[in-house]
Amino acid sequence: MTTPRFQQVWDANPELTRLLRDSATLAAARRAAFDYLNRQEQLFLNHEFDIHALELVTIIECTDVMKQVISERSETVTGHSALRILWRKARGELVEDTVAPGFKEEFRHLFHGIRGQSRLYPEMVAGPPPQLTGRAAARERSRGLDRLGERIDGWIRRYPTGLDPIVARRREHNRRRIAEQFGGSPQEWANHVWQLRHIVRDSATLGRLVKLTPEERSAIDQANDNHIPFGVTPHYVSLMDYNASRLCDHSVRAQVIPTPEYVELMQANRQLGTHSLDFMQEHDTSPVDLVTRRYPGIAILKPYNTCAQVCVYCQRNWEISRPWADDALAPADRLAAAIDWFRSHPYVREVLVTGGDPLVAGTRFIAGLLSRLADIRHIERIRIGSRVPVTLPMRFTRDLADVIARHHEPGRREVCVVTHVQHCYELTPETVAAVQQLRRRGIAVYNQMVFTRENSRRFEAVALRRLLRLAGVDPYYSFNTKGKEETVDFRVPIARLLQEQKEEARLVPGLVRTDEAVFNVPGMGKNYVRAGQHHRVIMIRPDGRRVYEFHPWEKGISLAPTYIDTDVGIWEYLEWLESVGEKPQDYRSIWYYH
Ligand code: SF4
Repeated sequence: MTTPRFQQVWDANPELTRLLRDSATLAAARRAAFDYLNRQEQLFLNHEFDIHALELVTIIECTDVMKQVISERSETVTGHSALRILWRKARGELVEDTVAPGFKEEFRHLFHGIRGQSRLYPEMVAGPPPQLTGRAAARERSRGLDRLGERIDGWIRRYPTGLDPIVARRREHNRRRIAEQFGGSPQEWANHVWQLRHIVRDSATLGRLVKLTPEERSAIDQANDNHIPFGVTPHYVSLMDYNASRLCDHSVRAQVIPTPEYVELMQANRQLGTHSLDFMQEHDTSPVDLVTRRYPGIAILKPYNTCAQVCVYCQRNWEISRPWADDALAPADRLAAAIDWFRSHPYVREVLVTGGDPLVAGTRFIAGLLSRLADIRHIERIRIGSRVPVTLPMRFTRDLADVIARHHEPGRREVCVVTHVQHCYELTPETVAAVQQLRRRGIAVYNQMVFTRENSRRFEAVALRRLLRLAGVDPYYSFNTKGKEETVDFRVPIARLLQEQKEEARLVPGLVRTDEAVFNVPGMGKNYVRAGQHHRVIMIRPDGRRVYEFHPWEKGISLAPTYIDTDVGIWEYLEWLESVGEKPQDYRSIWYYH
């Protein structure tokens, strides 16, 4: 990508540039800019210019963002002033380049946008020509939709899936090779306890099973030296390709192999005790040990504090000490107190049993826990959060499926499972079989996907959703990656999530795109990001990162504080996309998602 120059910002809107340049003070610049924006908006809304309705929408959106960004309130709230930078730069008072490329690109696009020159629609492809009607028009439109369908298919075909026969065969071979290394038979491989006993916990062992880059090896070593949990089940290792190119298995490796930056930041955060670790502020939302409550009708129960393996960007990475830890079960008295808490809170009708990963615990424990919860009359839904269908699918024995289904009583109480599949390459025939064990017993299975760099390319998440539906899993949430500092090299700008929802997810049938894009706001809970009424861009910082103000879910119900968060930069994200072979041009409308 070519580094933008300020001149391109000025060229995008000479009139606004002149107004900034001619203002003697910052206050005068603000007044002039507001006057200009109001005037422009009125001209466009009053039909002074002949402009397409969609371009008009962009004008209104860009004008609104500009007003937010240059307002005194936003400057006070964020401690930054983009207007001061623009004003001083326009007057030639900032000699050196004090701002990042992303800052210039943001304003270049905004300056174009408020003039109705977004250039989002270079070729004005509309429906059939107006002279066509009836069947002729329908056929023409159908041909257009075929062309679009072909393009979408082309994108999706770029992502191999774990259900492709060729990939399944490769993994069959991996399984034999890895089992041999551990001296395990096919029967042992299919036993989840054998899998747990052979969790790969260091780079030396993993390096014998798949090739590792020096960087991967050193990051794992660093993590182990600093007690940052690391571990991978043999099953999950078999999803990795032997060579370390990350061509197909990038999402699989990235899920469990930390990056050097992650390890470094985790160490720093631990030493400083920053809030980034307990990012969701669970300490402040836990009315009793093992319970977290952020909503009236549902609360979280965390009876088991470990997993079969550890996801690098896990939200609870500050609580989980190691995979399959032997001290992970909550003490009986604390668990009893937590269950009592549910019993004494009749409006909490749903319990999310999570952890850790509760399905890694023993079947007897799970059976006991579920029946104690089912004993509480007002609990109408028990939701189990587990990544075991992906990390340890052999855990879904008939016994376990029976235990889960035992308290599922249609019309009285629902038991369901929410899993976490990140990528279509992660899905395997074993995962599908595990899901089917549940579906056959009437248990619904949902998916929560975290939208990271590893699944954020064009139509990559769509490829996953399509396959999930075919496997019997309903897409449920697409999570933005929050602001946890140590996960910065996984994070994707909110604008990309909005673009994905609008330009990709929207193009598949409704039953495939049942998930909702959300940002999990610390201490508050899930905030829908799709609708503009839930958030606003209020600043663009000198480093090009947007500052968002999120509105709490209580908006319109009760007065609750808003939440301010700085996103990752769009420019840096596009640079990363380019480094993995994408064309930034294919994502060009991203700047117009706010
Ligand atoms: S399975 Fe869930 S709780 Fe466990 S490490 Fe992964 S994200 Fe965290």
